[in-house]
Amino acid sequence: MMTAQFVSARFIRLLLTTVLGLHALASAHAADVDAKRILNADKNAAEWVTHGGNYAEQRFSQLRKINDKNVQDLGLAWYFDLDTNRGQEATPLIIDGTMYFTSAWSKVFAADARTGKEKWRFDPQVDFKKNGDACCDVVNRGVAAWGSNVYVGTLDGRLIALEMATGKVVWSVQTTDPKGRYTITGAPRIVKGKVIIGNGGGELGVRGYVTAYDAASGKQLWRFYTVPGNPTDGFESPAMERAAKTWLGEWWQYGGGGTVWDSMAYDPELDLVYVGVGNGSPWNYQIRSQGQGDNLFLSSIVALKAETGDYVWHFQTTPGESWDYTATQHMILADLPIGGKQRKVIMQAPKNGYFYVLDRATGQFISGKNYVPVSWSTGLDPKTGRPSIVPEALYVNQPAMVTPTPLGGHNWFPMSYSPLTNLVYVSILESASRYAQDKNFQMRSQGWNTGVGFSGDTPHPDTVKAVANVKPSASLLAWDPINQREAWRVTYPRAGNGGILTTAGNVLFQGSADGFFNAYTADTGKKLWSFPAQDAPMGGPVTYELDGEQYIAGIAGLGGAAAGGMGMRGEKQVRADHGRMLVFKLGGKAELPALGGSGARQVPNLSRANANGDVTVGATVFERSCAGCHGDQAISNTAVPDLRYSRSIADEAEFKSIVVDGARASKGMVGFGAVLKPGEAEAIRAYLVARAAAIK
Ligand code: CA
Repeated sequence: MMTAQFVSARFIRLLLTTVLGLHALASAHAADVDAKRILNADKNAAEWVTHGGNYAEQRFSQLRKINDKNVQDLGLAWYFDLDTNRGQEATPLIIDGTMYFTSAWSKVFAADARTGKEKWRFDPQVDFKKNGDACCDVVNRGVAAWGSNVYVGTLDGRLIALEMATGKVVWSVQTTDPKGRYTITGAPRIVKGKVIIGNGGGELGVRGYVTAYDAASGKQLWRFYTVPGNPTDGFESPAMERAAKTWLGEWWQYGGGGTVWDSMAYDPELDLVYVGVGNGSPWNYQIRSQGQGDNLFLSSIVALKAETGDYVWHFQTTPGESWDYTATQHMILADLPIGGKQRKVIMQAPKNGYFYVLDRATGQFISGKNYVPVSWSTGLDPKTGRPSIVPEALYVNQPAMVTPTPLGGHNWFPMSYSPLTNLVYVSILESASRYAQDKNFQMRSQGWNTGVGFSGDTPHPDTVKAVANVKPSASLLAWDPINQREAWRVTYPRAGNGGILTTAGNVLFQGSADGFFNAYTADTGKKLWSFPAQDAPMGGPVTYELDGEQYIAGIAGLGGAAAGGMGMRGEKQVRADHGRMLVFKLGGKAELPALGGSGARQVPNLSRANANGDVTVGATVFERSCAGCHGDQAISNTAVPDLRYSRSIADEAEFKSIVVDGARASKGMVGFGAVLKPGEAEAIRAYLVARAAAIK
């Protein structure tokens, strides 16, 4: 009976299509995305309608046609070349047979999800100079869908609604002060017709907030600030009045930070929106708040009422944040058996190195355990989850070596939770970093404003000892959140390994920074399949089913700060020259074009470089103003040039024209003339010449 109905419906559609020529009409019709459709995301695994797969952000799919028995037969179904080689961090959405995804510079693409054929593209024409305000590349993590629109947040702070069918702009609002150094890289979420979007800029001196807009009109409905402003201006909410009691000095002059640059989740029964809040601005707690007070709501998970944006509860992971320990990392909602009963939990592995399990109705701490080595804290209070902080790790009078690093034990890479294994899968980084007071700190209009230096005096010996056994290492970690312990891990040669997807077929998918898209068994971590992707698939992989065929999709494009990896860069790392959407199916036969050339780079001829600047000064200034994009120790494997190979370092005048005068501003390299002191540009050049000369 079902079959007969199906056949007859198909027959009628075929008749309409062929006889009446209504194909265009039939295929253009798409049901609106509404609350029910997102709530049913788990039951309808054929599509991927919201960023994290469902409101719980679990990134798990019930699809099992591709499984641990046949995944080795996976092949490329299609690929879609991107028009930029910058970092790619998007999670695509698949709705009614169309894939919607974003690329660097906040561009949006719509393609046929079966074939990859482009339907439309949208370029918001972000001014390339905005690159100077992006801490960590000009990335974007994806769109949200509601009604018949998709929504994108742009690097320059706009929120734009686009018609799903055509890519035409429906409305556009500026969500940030264009004079401030705000950026947007995160994907919006949509709850009850409200588009919720945060922003970034915690390294640049901004004040964080999250805003809800009416999906139909773009009208602002509510805004929740995450850190207090100047009390004499009055408080926006009782929560801000309360938060202000935990700050000292004149923090508002520095922005305060607390940006909501990535993670959100929603519980429809509790009607709570959860936002992950970022680090302090500046990082330096002594400058920001005289080294006192908890500085709410930095580094916290905050629960808000979806209707009003009113504060409900918070949990602060790192009071008095001093190390760029954001709590903006992916949050997952699940119901777990803990202590003999089902608990409604929210889980996060923030940068600070602890894995947290909280009651998501109340914010009550259930458990926490370090998932990577942690040296800034000796442990968590078993009742409250508050960390006991190692005083020397605060680098007040002497620099400190600390683990995790500013890149975190885990960065933005989406995790996955499988209800079949009860495991959470995390892309982790183990490494240590030096933190020191920046004695010359002042708020600058260019470069970072962290108040932290990474070199200088000898670090406190106890802090050095505390990280002595931490060797740089990056892994896929399977974590048991019920028992707070490691289940298994796969260690990779490079840092910056990608987002994770698990499926009911007992398969886990993850791209790696060495340029492969990989499949493992979700229960044991056994490697099943690996595809040479010519670039690093970093974004969140997804799966969907069309015409009975299951597809796996992931975006490739090395970039973003976390792709750098403290001590984990290397000459042999894959180059970021092949940004693409890659889509796989069983028996897929598509092939990537062969790689051209050897790809080997040449150090410029330095015999006439005449670099007489102070190399030590150059190293310090480079760390402060350049390393954020061009890489730790001037090693870059991303699309941002590795300056050791740049011909400009051999020519004083050319180098000055770029670095001081902004000769390449149209390519995103803004001039730093306003912030460099006389001689500093030449000192940077001397440092780069020395770094280039050190290459064998
Ligand atoms: Ca940060």
